[in-house]
Amino acid sequence: MELNELTIHELKDKLNKKECTIPEIVSSYFKKIKEAEPKVDAYLTLLENEAMDEAKTMQEKFDKGESTGILFGIPIAIKDAICTKGVRTTSASKILDNFISPYDATVMEKLHSEGAIMLGKTNMDEFAMGSSTEHSAYKTTKNPWDLSRIPGGSSGGSAAAVAAGMAPCALGSDTGGSIRQPASLCGIVGLKPTYGLVSRYGLIAYASSFDQIGPFTRDVEDLAILLNAISGHDEKDTTSENREKEDYTEALVKDVKDIKIGVPKEFLGEGVNEEVKEVVLKAAKKYEELGAKVEECSFKVADYSLATYYIIACAEASSNLGRFDGIRYGHRASEFKDLKELFKKTRQEGFGDEVKRRIFLGTCVLSSGYSDAYYVKAQKVRNLLREEFAKQFEKYDFLLTPTSPTTAFKIGEKMEDPLEMYLADICTVPVNVAGVPAISIPCGYSKDGLPIGMQLIGNYFSESKMIRTAYTYEQNTEWHNMHPNI
Ligand code: GLN
Repeated sequence: MELNELTIHELKDKLNKKECTIPEIVSSYFKKIKEAEPKVDAYLTLLENEAMDEAKTMQEKFDKGESTGILFGIPIAIKDAICTKGVRTTSASKILDNFISPYDATVMEKLHSEGAIMLGKTNMDEFAMGSSTEHSAYKTTKNPWDLSRIPGGSSGGSAAAVAAGMAPCALGSDTGGSIRQPASLCGIVGLKPTYGLVSRYGLIAYASSFDQIGPFTRDVEDLAILLNAISGHDEKDTTSENREKEDYTEALVKDVKDIKIGVPKEFLGEGVNEEVKEVVLKAAKKYEELGAKVEECSFKVADYSLATYYIIACAEASSNLGRFDGIRYGHRASEFKDLKELFKKTRQEGFGDEVKRRIFLGTCVLSSGYSDAYYVKAQKVRNLLREEFAKQFEKYDFLLTPTSPTTAFKIGEKMEDPLEMYLADICTVPVNVAGVPAISIPCGYSKDGLPIGMQLIGNYFSESKMIRTAYTYEQNTEWHNMHPNI
């Protein structure tokens, strides 16, 4: 097996046994990147020289017994929405084409202090707005399982890089499903942590009350390791929770006998592909065999969550994106008469169609005369959704649903119809609206060989139990051992 095919825990093991060196690990990833990247287009920026230099320095430290950190010498790919000091950070937008971040996001500081080595920045939908990575201003990432299909989005570059063996793990951000949906469509593991568990400082904001940074990995054990590295209180993020730090690797136990799972029928209804449904129901059966209590349940207000999400997310986006004015950073229009024209031209030239559509929608739902009917109403429905989740978690530890209603769709298939694209998030957005955590893990394949993922939704800060529940299923199935031939 090549080094680039291993998991974080396997790489750590090999390093500790001195069966390989850090430069060997890093160069095995760049070798794979040279082969697969021209086909997959997962990265926007590659940092080969920087990563190789860092690997050498770290190996010297390692040889002297000075290695520290739970990710010492482990490579990682980072979504381009996360600020990385001295490295181009575009959020896949032309408006940030020339932006070199002057500071590191908190998650980057944490990764550096744990010894991780950044391989590069990954492609995404512009400002994380999309479900397919087709809205990137630079290129479309392809799904490593079938290059004619999308990898999901918006963190499609991160998911495709991990699935293709071009990184052992990656960070993404999830506002309405952008970690879980691409993880599901690429056959890997992805987690949207509880809102407030991971600092958002340095994440280029899309919709601040939903955004969360989270991990992509090849298996659940790696996910626990990476979550240990990035979670924790941060004074620089006022929405960051100040709670005792947990060790998620302690949850890597194979036992679900005390776990109660509800399978809400609303998430398996209209629009959900039959094959996906079948595979997810089989996974529910598997949990039953493993000793969990599983039953069908009903989740009210599910129908309203997509509309609620898009109203609030667009409202917040229209405000967050106000900062891109051609004055403070990024692109500036070259010709303009006055200040107003500078703003207008810069934004006209710098933003793509989907971003403009959302700013337009957002300003519309916030404008006087409409805000009560749309924005305020959506906030009320948001509360109803929170209450509904609370009710479910009085009865169940987790809700089990498909992560995505379909397998990966063809490139171009939904680009002409924004509403069709928005429907790709139907199973994931309720989670962000309430702020609860959810994980996506592989649970099968379609007849044409495309990965299918299931989602476990849990109560606030139930990540440990969620990891245990996901790990138990994973270790009793073979899906996580399947990789695309790329
Ligand atoms: N696809 C959803 C959207 O377009 C979610 C994106 C995300 O989670 N960043 O808003």
